[in-house]
Amino acid sequence: MIRYAITLTELKKRIEKARPGWLALAAKRTQHFTDVGDFDEPAAQSIWGDIKEVFMQLQHSKCAYCESRRESEDYGTIEHDVEHFRPKSSVQKWKPPAGFARPDLPFGTPEDSSLGYYLLPYQPLNYATSCKVCNTICKGDRFPTAAPRDLKLADPAKGAKEKPYLLYPIGSTDTNPEELITFNGVSPVAKKASGFDRDRALVVIEFFKLGDPKRKSLFRRRAEVIATLFLLLEAAKNAANPVDKQLYVKLLDGLTQDAAEHANCARSFVRLYQQRPADAREFFVLTQEYLGTMSP
Ligand SMILES: [Zn+2]
Repeated sequence: MIRYAITLTELKKRIEKARPGWLALAAKRTQHFTDVGDFDEPAAQSIWGDIKEVFMQLQHSKCAYCESRRESEDYGTIEHDVEHFRPKSSVQKWKPPAGFARPDLPFGTPEDSSLGYYLLPYQPLNYATSCKVCNTICKGDRFPTAAPRDLKLADPAKGAKEKPYLLYPIGSTDTNPEELITFNGVSPVAKKASGFDRDRALVVIEFFKLGDPKRKSLFRRRAEVIATLFLLLEAAKNAANPVDKQLYVKLLDGLTQDAAEHANCARSFVRLYQQRPADAREFFVLTQEYLGTMSP
């Protein structure tokens, strides 16, 4: 995961430009949910799909959670879900699976709720686009928190008091995911040694199965990114002339910028190469072995 930096003002500007009048309609609907104390809208009337492309562009057509890249907006809207970070219509409990590093994790509200975060269905800072594996298979209506849920939350910027375990990657209402999650080669790991920030990283990694080798597509792409990075880093180091070096550096920039697939993994690997080149070489060898075991 990485952060996609944007202010609420800028986000609203992009939404208004893409769908004039959407924000006014969204505000009207939120007022209705406030009045009735529930999210009671029939699925056919929902309008969040209308602004999907705004988030696809902001996230460079990448899933907010696993950073896999899907097709872009001209053909790819079907591949992306508009995901409500805090579930809108109900909240299901999340049970850590057997073998999870923190089986004793505290939950502020461990029960299911038939009421969701009913004031947030049309709050732009409750949206992100994600792949169907992360949204439908992994997340669903689950939203684990260490403190009691606040289903009356109207402003996501004030959501920290719930102590959510999941990380919200759009804007700056939450911690930058890269401060909490880094990569050892192709595997995501918690950056902090202890505390709630470590728990959050562990939950995110487990919750979205980001470290599960059974997500073969993720692991294969990360391995390919690492292999390419290593070869380019070596080529840049050994370049015979400045023109060649400049080309390699430009290609490296392209593979590590926010728009790049698996940018957190890529940036973690470049840091490793700079700090412990022998370890980076070892990971490169491992990626070759791993890719060699996969069918074409
Ligand atoms: Zn995903």
